[in-house]
Amino acid sequence: MFLAEIIGVGDELLYGETTDTNTAEIAQSLRPYALQVRRTLRVADDLDTLAQEVREAWAKARLVVLSGGLGPTPDDITREAIAAALGEELVLDPLVLGALEKLFEARGWRMPEANRKQAYKIPSASWIENPRGTAPGWWVRQEGKDLVALPGPPAEWRPMWASLLPRLGLPQKPYKQVTFKTFGLGESRIVELLGDLFQRGGAVEVGTYAKVDGVAVVLRGEPAQVDRLAECIRPLLGQALWGQEGETLPQLVLQALQARRATLATLESATGGALAALLTGVPGASECYLGGLLPYSPEAKARLGLTPGQGMVSAAFAEAMAALAREALGATYALATTGVAGPEALEGQPVGTFYLGLATPKGTRAQHHRLPGASREVLRQRAAHAALAFLLRALEEGL
Ligand code: ATP
Ligand code: MG
Repeated sequence: MFLAEIIGVGDELLYGETTDTNTAEIAQSLRPYALQVRRTLRVADDLDTLAQEVREAWAKARLVVLSGGLGPTPDDITREAIAAALGEELVLDPLVLGALEKLFEARGWRMPEANRKQAYKIPSASWIENPRGTAPGWWVRQEGKDLVALPGPPAEWRPMWASLLPRLGLPQKPYKQVTFKTFGLGESRIVELLGDLFQRGGAVEVGTYAKVDGVAVVLRGEPAQVDRLAECIRPLLGQALWGQEGETLPQLVLQALQARRATLATLESATGGALAALLTGVPGASECYLGGLLPYSPEAKARLGLTPGQGMVSAAFAEAMAALAREALGATYALATTGVAGPEALEGQPVGTFYLGLATPKGTRAQHHRLPGASREVLRQRAAHAALAFLLRALEEGL
């Protein structure tokens, strides 16, 4: 199997000022190809170190992709490092220099001297046009191998990479990916449920990924075998399965509401608006989502007539909240959240305790959750997604 190596360039990637998502995204894009990514690297803005890493990668890999360090500033050294690694000289391309100068002129500026370096390349590289920025990329093909240098900003490199990748003629493999999205089952429970389907013969790779919208189960491999395994796995996930591939909970909830010509209102406490934010994040949400209330303090709740009978973190309170929102906004359905997002326990209930309330034309019901999560933000997101999963399930049950 051929190797691919991916290198993110920049001090900021080492120290976390920028989280390196480029190397993973580029690795992901290579999945349909018969190339193995055994490591991805983050390298400092240091000429010798980067040149050494490029030399090593180039010696063993069929494909080397770099991102970052193509800017105009002195710490942008990707061009110099590749030149050093491949033993070539940087040569000014007057056409690219002219184009750069024009780009600045069009914005009413004179091109800073610093940008000249972006018009240099080694003779064996061809340019990759960058329609969204000043730094063009490089594509080097030598002896059946490819080296690609892309700028760092995702909005710039994505279209460049998308148009270049099919032209590289990389060896392909029959490949398919199926993603099952679940809520309510922990990763270890899913591993248990799937049993030995997990490692069936290596032809299909099975992975589980815990996210705020639940655990995703991803199958990757040869298409027919992926389909066969998917058919075995789907029934095992049962009621926890809510979606597939790129689907999101707010999207599916709004679709389900629209299909029923129904509307939704929310009343949030513990999630602090996270539920409303998820819903309003979907374009066209106002067709079904009427809006939300956020009485956060006990006083604000009391003014709306929400008084804690058995406590504010309780099933009864969550149901009362939902009923109030449904009534106040005149919606078909209403969702409510109350709970303990931390860091302190509340009413003797531990962090991660949530009660979700649902009001429907047929009455109210509540759901209790003990959600895992290390931070307040993660817990609020999980609880907001739990509320959407609760509603989606209820809609599917015909409530
Ligand atoms: P520029 O001309 O914008 O300076 P560049 O090719 O020099 O482009 P960098 O300076 O390395 O790129 O990075 C510019 C920006 O691109 C960073 O501030 C960051 O927002 C984004 N970026 C760079 N590398 C990565 C990465 N590995 N993952 C995610 N984002 C990145
Ligand atoms: Mg830069």
